Amino acid sequence: MIAGFDTFPDELRDTTEVTVECVSDETTPETCGRWEETFEVGTPEAIMMDAHGLLHFDGLPTECPECGNYVLLAYNGVEVFKEP
Ligand SMILES: [Zn+2]
Repeated sequence: MIAGFDTFPDELRDTTEVTVECVSDETTPETCGRWEETFEVGTPEAIMMDAHGLLHFDGLPTECPECGNYVLLAYNGVEVFKEP
C-alpha cells in the first residue's frame, strides 16, 4: 500500500526523466539513505495515480538496490511512503 496523494504531484507531471532516491527517516532508520539514480521512462503515462490516490511507477525501481529499502523512496523529490 502506497500512501495516497490528493493531487498528482507537479514534480512528476509530464516528465520522462525521474530521479529516484533512497530516503531514510525515523520509519526507516536502517537504510543507506543516499542511493540516487536518474532513470528515463518511455512515456509520462508510466507514472500514474489511480482512483485511490496511489502512485504507480511502470519501469522504475520501487526499492533501493543498495539496501533494499522499499518503504520510503523519493521520485523527483516527491517522497512516496509504502507500508512495510
Ligand atoms: Zn538505500
